[in-house]
Amino acid sequence: MEIALQDSNVKSITKDIDFTYHKENLVYNNETIKILKPIQVKGKVVVSQGIADVKLSVDTRMLHTCSRCLEQFEQDLELNVDEKVSKNEQEDGNIITLEEGNILDLRDVVLNNIYLALPIRILCKEDCKGLCQTCGANLNHEQCSCRSDEVDPRLSALKDMFKEV
Ligand SMILES: [Zn+2]
Ligand SMILES: [Zn+2]
Repeated sequence: MEIALQDSNVKSITKDIDFTYHKENLVYNNETIKILKPIQVKGKVVVSQGIADVKLSVDTRMLHTCSRCLEQFEQDLELNVDEKVSKNEQEDGNIITLEEGNILDLRDVVLNNIYLALPIRILCKEDCKGLCQTCGANLNHEQCSCRSDEVDPRLSALKDMFKEV
């Protein structure tokens, strides 16, 4: 879905937006996130004096991998886009400038906003216990036996000192 910003110098144009963006994967923090359903984009764009006022709602579903326990889980993503884009640099810092040309591709706007909405660390749940460093057991599901022997590396240095005495 592309919008030409140059046409609008004459009068303001309002475009109703309703499209589906088929994209299979996102790459985020070197991880591939699978997109499970086509990204639904709805809303309105008003172009006036070379500036597009973009108001969209975005809806999709993704398959994430927990960065702590490495389990995969599905999650819906819904977000609203509310931003202004200009083909020329504006004094107003809230207005985003197009990198080049006069064509605003709403798919780029949608993708950027999805990336911004993702958390820095993707977790299956806030208190995910992760994997045992020793045996690799998923501590959300089981309690492994090596856990009690786990010693802080700083403490283990101390333990060695005592041995020598
Ligand atoms: Zn997890
Ligand atoms: Zn273990």
